[in-house]
Amino acid sequence: MRTAAVRAEAVRKSFGGHEVLRGVDLTVEPGEVTCLLGPSGSGKSTFLRCINHLETIDGGTLTVDGALVGYEHRGGRLHELRPRQTAERRREIGMVFQRFNLFPHLTALQNITEAPTRVLREPAATVRPRAMALLERVGLADKANAYPAQLSGGQQQRVAIARALAMRPRLMLFDEPTSALDPELVGEVLAVMRDLAGDGMTMIVVTHEIGFAREVADTVAFLDSGIVVESGTPDQVLSDPRHERTRAFLSKVL
Ligand code: ADP
Ligand code: MG
Repeated sequence: MRTAAVRAEAVRKSFGGHEVLRGVDLTVEPGEVTCLLGPSGSGKSTFLRCINHLETIDGGTLTVDGALVGYEHRGGRLHELRPRQTAERRREIGMVFQRFNLFPHLTALQNITEAPTRVLREPAATVRPRAMALLERVGLADKANAYPAQLSGGQQQRVAIARALAMRPRLMLFDEPTSALDPELVGEVLAVMRDLAGDGMTMIVVTHEIGFAREVADTVAFLDSGIVVESGTPDQVLSDPRHERTRAFLSKVL
């Protein structure tokens, strides 16, 4: 059996007394794109943050590439990961947020070279050409020396994607990457993501862009009140939803 890129089984997470994830089940296979839809407050961001070790889970099982998130098996026993091990695992996951989060005092190129140089300690001579290639890939080779403030939101988000890719992630998480953009800039970011998906990157994309989900996703999952109420192919979930909540949500965003 292949190891799933991400496997969530009955994942639970509470903040105070508020149970935000109430038993999330979801499997993402390597090379697949999963679009996660759901109303505001349903737990989408929290779920991504659990995958990325930014939150600890309270119950259930969550594995990334077969490794338990937050724990590992050693000598038949379960050991909690130390912060350093957690940091190492997080490097294999790229995350792109709604807000671009670029370092404002660094150029586009420096934003991309920063982590491979400082975290992976790769020499500038190899990092720089790779960063230039990534800028080219997101269509911004001519903006290498521009600062974030000199770039449009769509350009900044494309740099953010290139920056995440510079760490050679095995998995990319996108949390509403186009929600903060002016409508005319959404397409250029989705085009980069489509290209990445075409290259076989494993991706989980939280989005309200139904057209993107229909075209690019292998699996669409609908999260409601901390539970995946349905998942399937885009056709199944978007054209013929079985669950009343999914239907109500789609009628609002379509
Ligand atoms: P979504 O991304 O689907 O809009 P979130 O995962 O951001 O939903 O949030 C789900 C619920 O969890 C919301 O009610 C939110 O207020 C709550 N929540 C998220 N993060 C925290 C936190 N760090 N502390 C307390 N409550 C939180
Ligand atoms: Mg969110």
